[in-house]
Amino acid sequence: MNCKICEHTATHYFSVKIMNKYPGEYFICPTCKFLFAGNPSWLQEAYKNPINLVDTGLVDRNINFHKILSLIIYLLFDKNGKFLDYAGGYGIFTRLMRDTGFDFYWFDLYCENLLSRGSEYNMSSKEKVEALTAFEVFEHLENPMPEIEKMLTYSSNIFFSTELLPFPVPEPENFWYYGFDHGQHISFYSPDTLSFIARKFELKYYNLGNLHLFSAQKFSLSYLKALKKGAKFLYPFVKLNMNSRTFEDHLKLKK
Ligand SMILES: [Zn+2]
Repeated sequence: MNCKICEHTATHYFSVKIMNKYPGEYFICPTCKFLFAGNPSWLQEAYKNPINLVDTGLVDRNINFHKILSLIIYLLFDKNGKFLDYAGGYGIFTRLMRDTGFDFYWFDLYCENLLSRGSEYNMSSKEKVEALTAFEVFEHLENPMPEIEKMLTYSSNIFFSTELLPFPVPEPENFWYYGFDHGQHISFYSPDTLSFIARKFELKYYNLGNLHLFSAQKFSLSYLKALKKGAKFLYPFVKLNMNSRTFEDHLKLKK
């Protein structure tokens, strides 16, 4: 089995039962330290419910990330530009960012947009956006490289979240993020994996812990980290200086 990221030969790492019935074979790449499910035959069943039911962190994570992204975009990007939340789930993040005042759009192939209706992105337009966000998406990707390449056609700034694979690589029972009970997590990235991906697409990789950024632009990593840390306190400043789109969206939907 070849690594789905760097194409070097990967080695079998462990066998587990997925959703208590499907045999899952996981491989690790000694070169880029990517751990992945070899042949995830269970995905159709795993996605009967696109948002897995044990994801209790969903709301809290979106609130935190919207404060962090608001601050970073406000200070470092074109705050009046368009943004895209890729695989945006129920639309929580898009709604929060629009409420703050950013022109965010939603896209998801598998999930219904419940909270940011009217802000669906016209993907076929191929129109570029200032930045793309993909929270808790990368670990779901069966073939990450073509998927990331597709995301890059919309923007060369990709903010994403995924839990990094710890080292030494945990045994199957010792890492909650494996998610063998729901079967949706099939790709696990180490910092080496993400650095490899960035190099492959001629981007820079910024590791902010559980938040990551691929970008063609040069930033100070310590400044990005400080903004992430300070977002909880500095977010109200951004909110005060932006014009919320909440009411404008309400009027648009009523038409
Ligand atoms: Zn590899």
